[in-house]
Amino acid sequence: MRAPAASAPGMPVRSRALRTPVWTWRRPLHAVLRWLPSASIFFGVGVLARGGFHQLARIGWPEVASIVLILAGATTAVVRRVKRNASGALISFKDELDLGGTLLTAAFIVVTMVGTALFPVIYLLVAFLVTFFSRAAGATLLLGAVVVDGMETLPHNPSLFLSHAAFLLVFAGLYHVVLSARLAAASKAENQAVKKRIKEFEERARTFRLVSSGTRDSMPGVREEEKWLVASVKEIEGALGSALEIAEGALRTHTCGVFLLTADDRSLKLHDCRSPSDHVQRDKFPSGEGIFGALLKRGMAVRMHAPTGVKGVTYYEPGGPTVGALLAVPIVERGGLMRGVLVADRVNAEPFTENDERVLTSIAAEVLRAMEVERVMGYIRKNRDEKDRFFRAIEELNRASSPDQVFLAVLESARQIASLDFSAVTLVSEENGKRQHRIARMTGVTAQGRALEGKVFVDNNGLVANVVRYGAPLPGREVAAMDRQIIFDDDTQVRGLSALKIFPLVAGDRILGTLVAGSRKKAAFDGDSLRMLEVIAMQAAQAVLRAQLYEQMETMATTDGLSGLLNHRTFQARFDEALATARRYSRKCSLILTDVDHFKSVNDTYGHPMGDSVLKGVARILKEKARDTDLVARYGGEEFAIVMPETDARGAQVIAERIREAVMAEVFQTEQGPLKITLSLGIATFPEAGAEKQVLIDLADQCLYFAKRHGRNQSVTVSQLQQRPLALAAGKRG
Ligand code: GH3
Ligand code: MG
Ligand code: MG
Repeated sequence: MRAPAASAPGMPVRSRALRTPVWTWRRPLHAVLRWLPSASIFFGVGVLARGGFHQLARIGWPEVASIVLILAGATTAVVRRVKRNASGALISFKDELDLGGTLLTAAFIVVTMVGTALFPVIYLLVAFLVTFFSRAAGATLLLGAVVVDGMETLPHNPSLFLSHAAFLLVFAGLYHVVLSARLAAASKAENQAVKKRIKEFEERARTFRLVSSGTRDSMPGVREEEKWLVASVKEIEGALGSALEIAEGALRTHTCGVFLLTADDRSLKLHDCRSPSDHVQRDKFPSGEGIFGALLKRGMAVRMHAPTGVKGVTYYEPGGPTVGALLAVPIVERGGLMRGVLVADRVNAEPFTENDERVLTSIAAEVLRAMEVERVMGYIRKNRDEKDRFFRAIEELNRASSPDQVFLAVLESARQIASLDFSAVTLVSEENGKRQHRIARMTGVTAQGRALEGKVFVDNNGLVANVVRYGAPLPGREVAAMDRQIIFDDDTQVRGLSALKIFPLVAGDRILGTLVAGSRKKAAFDGDSLRMLEVIAMQAAQAVLRAQLYEQMETMATTDGLSGLLNHRTFQARFDEALATARRYSRKCSLILTDVDHFKSVNDTYGHPMGDSVLKGVARILKEKARDTDLVARYGGEEFAIVMPETDARGAQVIAERIREAVMAEVFQTEQGPLKITLSLGIATFPEAGAEKQVLIDLADQCLYFAKRHGRNQSVTVSQLQQRPLALAAGKRG
């Protein structure tokens, strides 16, 4: 292959000068800054080890230098840490060692200068580092502290060293444990608060019937779902609030409120209200009692007034106001489904008019509409992603043309739709009147790993076999002991599935096989995904059938029915391709043409059918002796051709001779006794014999003709043809 062009079109060509690295002062500075903390630690520890810092009076340049260095090193490490934190980059082990090491060295210097009374500073620092740094860095720094302390104390006070070391360990350990526990507790509390809030929103959403209880387990994108719920609940509450405001103003109400039925319809619960009263019932109350009970039962608006107080008001706690006039309308869906009550009341007995009723009814409709819109939006939103995936899957399936592509597309789409942990496509076939199944493709893990692909099993009482037998999905219901189900056959176990469904692949009146879908999640196949999987299975069956037919047709179009070799047309096309490749890469390519000797007499003596089976035998030998990369074709009647890419004349003749000898050795059994035949072969090689296909074919044919003329049962190359006397001597055999 040629190297790619120096510059892609449209890309600026960089000049050479720009590409050679330019020296800038940044490079050495970076290197210095990079190693400054480590250097300062080594220097500082070195000075400490040499007994520096002990006598304040005798502080010399090494002490001063190490203090300056350690300050610079610590500053560099801190700045680096801050920068990395700000950019969100990973903090490496070395970064942590640099920072912790400089701080520790500084602390040791201070303790050495001031006296061991200050040693607890080291305990605290180490405890801090162990707690907030990675485990490896913390441990390394702890060890470092023990070693540095050991250099100082071990030689003249081993017991002090031991107590220091023990304290360091205990401090670090305790600090770590206590702080980790506190952090864990804090994060748990936060999690719980979030969960509680989401639960609240879900409760509200459920009252709006935006979600139904129990679907959450099966929703894969729960996070998205939560965001959506919160947004929807807020949306509806906004709409409710403004509806109530309008009602309050228009109807001059005392209390104007929305009470919604709970999920079980047994209670009503205040959802929102505008009222100066503190006694509006906030807890849920029975929906079947009082005025509201009657209203919900009849589904009609109620208008009442009584100077002494309307009876049957259930939405105030004891001590609430006396209601002089009341107007309540049902919040009812188009289909008649009751959702709640919108109520307006007045303390004075000024009756609500018919017009007021119309206003409140239209406000109730507005409330309902807001809930309805959100619910539909939610449904669409929830389903949009699924449907998108679904349609993409179907498209993918329809694009797939080879069976293998189809299997892959089927499993991929099934996996995307139902978050499967295990899936497989099986195909059924009849072999000698016996039904057998083959696992064409699978994903997921079985007890035996991936060895299942290509596995064939006979018809049995397993689920796959039964699905094929009855043409219906199995198992019917969730099965408790999923592990004991036989999916394929006895010695194939699929473990750990909590949900399983096997669909038949039905195309017309044929069952081609099954689609096996399994999941670890119990609720993996909720209503929608089950239906979608069913459709996928239907489409998959069509795709498999199409791919199988396509493959059959392709085979029929490219191969010869009798011999199973490539047919003449395909030979011509593939020979063209082989020559083009040879030309492009300056490689050789040889062509062998063969013709059975005296084949007419085979036909005449043994009959045409016997002739046919002899041809089949020759074809088999050709296929056996040729290499996988060679193209073996039936050129015509009893003539065959072999195209051998990357093969010179000598190599081609070696193979030709092997073929010739194998054919000569073959004994065909006929009714009239054993039959032996021979083969003549002509060989032409690109490029020396010719550059064009037809030239090569003609030359190979001439060689073949030459072989026939000179005794048959031999192979002849073009160069042998050109040196006739020699060729005759070399080529003649048997
Ligand atoms: P030669 O050694 O010169 O090749 O003698 P030959 O008898 O083989 O002569 P040729 O190659 O011309 O004979 C071709 C014969 O092969 C003619 C035809 O009867 C027979 N033949 C061609 N195609 C088929 C076939 O598909 N089946 C059978 N049984 N015979 C075929
Ligand atoms: Mg012939
Ligand atoms: Mg012949």
